[in-house]
Amino acid sequence: MAQRIVVIEDERDIVELLDYTLRKEGFDVRGCSRGKEGLDALRRGPVDLALIDIMLPDLSGLEVCKLLRADENLHRLPVIFLTAKGEELDRILGLEFGADDYVVKPFSPRELVARIKAVLRRQGRAEEDHVQVVEVQGLRLDPNTQEAIVRGQSVELSSLEFKLLHFLASHPRRIFPRESLLDRVWGRDRFVTPRTVDVHIRRLREKIEMKPAKPQYLQTVRGSGYRFSVEADGA
Ligand code: CA
Repeated sequence: MAQRIVVIEDERDIVELLDYTLRKEGFDVRGCSRGKEGLDALRRGPVDLALIDIMLPDLSGLEVCKLLRADENLHRLPVIFLTAKGEELDRILGLEFGADDYVVKPFSPRELVARIKAVLRRQGRAEEDHVQVVEVQGLRLDPNTQEAIVRGQSVELSSLEFKLLHFLASHPRRIFPRESLLDRVWGRDRFVTPRTVDVHIRRLREKIEMKPAKPQYLQTVRGSGYRFSVEADGA
């Protein structure tokens, strides 16, 4: 399937140039001229990368990126900014917005395509760590389909719940402090607190444990964090 790029840019000729260039490279392109419209297109998905102009008529590109990073389904989406000279590049690439790259206008289409491919390759390698099917103790988690089977039953999990469970089940018995789960599972989304981990663990327990109050899988280690237990009786 062609990889899909959402372009958020209000200058028509740039959108047309990008549309032409990217389609020629085999990408599927969706162009949006407003920040809000772009955000909607991204949320509807599926999407592999966003190209975002910084100066947009409604939301700025930076605000769009901030909202993406706060969205549980999109916080890892690769973002490349289109910038005019002199914009605050350190902030763009830095922690505040966490873009993967940027290109300064006017840019050469060939250079942009090379940057896009590099970012997608990098993302692909990062995702490989996440695609291992885990089978343990009556649980089967397939990250490729986000399918969770518990004791023979399919269980509906949100994408973050799935990620958290998959991460813990991939490292059975190991204790993870909540901060380290935030780093490993939530990544660069900084709009979360350790409390977020507790909330997700509680929801997961309700979905996968026979007795959520006496969990077999997702155990609290007092004062330390959480671990995935592989003891049959939850002891
Ligand atoms: Ca603009």
